[in-house]
Amino acid sequence: MAVPQHRTSKTRKRMRRTHFKLTVPGMVHCPRCNEMKLAHRVCKACGYYKDRAVIQA
Ligand SMILES: [Zn+2]
Repeated sequence: MAVPQHRTSKTRKRMRRTHFKLTVPGMVHCPRCNEMKLAHRVCKACGYYKDRAVIQA
């Protein structure tokens, strides 16, 4: 098992964590209802994709 040779400093730890984002990459705001949705997929909140109702609510 790998054993760390040096303790990670506060700065290094924080620099690494700047890449931890709250939202998953590929999540965009729906232009219609402004909910977060996955890019290139039908919006789960309003059922729209490209100004067209794909899912009937
Ligand atoms: Zn939507």
